[in-house]
Amino acid sequence: MRAVALILALVLALWPGAPAQAQEAGRLVLGGSSLTQAPQGWWHRLFGPAPLEVALTLDRPVPWRAFLVGEPARLVIDLRDVDLAGLDPAQLFGKDLAPAIRWGSFRRGWSRLVIELPGPYRVARAGLRTQGPEARLQIGLDPVAPEDFAPRPSAAAALRNLPDPAQLPEPPPRAPGLAVTLDPGHGGFDPGAQAGGETEAALVLTFAQELRRALEARGVTVSMTRDSDVYVRLEDRMTAARQAGAHLLLSLHADALPQGQAAGATVYVWNPASDGRAAAQLALRHQRDDLLAGMDLRGQDDTLATVLMDFARTDTQPRSEAFARLLTSRMALRGIGLHGRPVQGAAFSVLKSPDIPSVLLELGFISDQTDLANLTDPEWRARMVEAVAEATTGWWRDEQARAGLLRH
Ligand SMILES: [Zn+2]
Repeated sequence: MRAVALILALVLALWPGAPAQAQEAGRLVLGGSSLTQAPQGWWHRLFGPAPLEVALTLDRPVPWRAFLVGEPARLVIDLRDVDLAGLDPAQLFGKDLAPAIRWGSFRRGWSRLVIELPGPYRVARAGLRTQGPEARLQIGLDPVAPEDFAPRPSAAAALRNLPDPAQLPEPPPRAPGLAVTLDPGHGGFDPGAQAGGETEAALVLTFAQELRRALEARGVTVSMTRDSDVYVRLEDRMTAARQAGAHLLLSLHADALPQGQAAGATVYVWNPASDGRAAAQLALRHQRDDLLAGMDLRGQDDTLATVLMDFARTDTQPRSEAFARLLTSRMALRGIGLHGRPVQGAAFSVLKSPDIPSVLLELGFISDQTDLANLTDPEWRARMVEAVAEATTGWWRDEQARAGLLRH
């Protein structure tokens, strides 16, 4: 474990910031794939649909994940680096057992298969076995009563259909075993953005301290990259998270952008290809002081490091994105004003840990009058703290469910 951490630390130091070389995509062997129905016992004949099994043959093992979504009940299977172009779902053996099957490329090297289910099901078992050079992914689905159907929470659904405050669900369960590193941005000689006599460094530190108390009350182990007005280098912030054994790094900011460009909470995940103007301005702001301190790693190159880094991130990136979606969903439920595009990609250095899911939350932009008033309002901060704490414990619950489901 320590050796792995050392290698990752080394890889991190060598990271040239360039996208990885494209590798040849894997292939779905359609002739060796099927949707089948388990033999029906008397119970199923009388009371409902039969268990289903999805079997996918791939020309090599790939990272994958599977989960259920609702309305209508669907099984979603994501496959990394598998090209489904030219393959027709209508050719899948047993396709008539499902009301609809669709697939296509999803994003950033992932392909997605969506199988509409003939009723509510649960994932009874799931696994990927290798057979020579090939791999076979099998997912067994058992029918369940409608009230036992448990789809993954969907940020999009939550945003579309906001419940009244009275309908807010109970606080999520405690999350013992979870370690989170909170990273209040800036500090010391770097006050960050400034407006109305407030500094970003002080505002995000106050918020981080309030969030720490809320998380600790839920049984979460919390560490901070800084707990006072000191400057911490970006590299040291990631190192602190790794040394704390953090499962999640949450960087907190409240930056300024030219008037009218930005308002509302925004969640950033790592994306080296991001070309957003605001993201580029913020990246410059976040990196400025480290660049001055001689920490610029650009210009270094190491192909092996790039490949290792990308391999590690294959697992980390979707988990960062899952947290980002859950976070925006919880903020919306708590009535927090969100940016028009609440989840964005950016090449912020602090997000590039290959092994720790990392997210940067702009609580708001202090260049915006409303956001600045919110950030200095304890009542607003308490709602925001609740939203982040709920997202964190909810994410941990999903992580543990995923750990039982996902096998590389
Ligand atoms: Zn900042």
